[in-house]
Amino acid sequence: MKIGVLGFQGAFLEHERHIQQLGHQAVDVRYIEQLDQIDAIILPGGESTTMGKLLDRTGMKEPLIAKIKAGMPAWGTCAGMILLAERIENDSVKHLGLMDITVRRNAYGRQIDSFDTECMIPEVSSEPIPLVFIRAPFVTEVGSGVKVLCEVNGNIVAVRQGHLLGTSFHPELTNNLSFLRYFISMIEK
Ligand code: GLN
Repeated sequence: MKIGVLGFQGAFLEHERHIQQLGHQAVDVRYIEQLDQIDAIILPGGESTTMGKLLDRTGMKEPLIAKIKAGMPAWGTCAGMILLAERIENDSVKHLGLMDITVRRNAYGRQIDSFDTECMIPEVSSEPIPLVFIRAPFVTEVGSGVKVLCEVNGNIVAVRQGHLLGTSFHPELTNNLSFLRYFISMIEK
């Protein structure tokens, strides 16, 4: 399987390493033509404002929206989830706007902008999963077609809507591959 990772900025190499560890091909996506060569796409963590601008400037935004709307599975981690969201509570822009969720950027504030924890997510793994949050958003509202996979301290941090997956945290910065396995099972369906 060929899994693309949007390679403009942020933690894309870490995702690519995990994809290769599971025996799949990772494609660093930077050009529109590459969208036709992949089975799915991961939108990595980084800075959503910067990635959003680059999506606009490269002309990739509309073709990417079309591809995902046509059924290409997509997983956004952290800033990537912000790119997928239909509504951003504390930003005046909307990027891809594909997932029926409202997100709050930098939701944990300055005092605790980064932290690690663990969570049992039965749909994803039978073992607890380590979660790494870095200036993370969380989800403040979900539409009726969205399944909440995980909450931490009452805040929604992982969601699925059909072929779309969003996580506030960074599985690619741990050595736990459960979320990537889960995403691959979504692609195989
Ligand atoms: N704070 C970043 C944003 O709002 C997201 C941080 C991350 O991806 N680790 O875009």
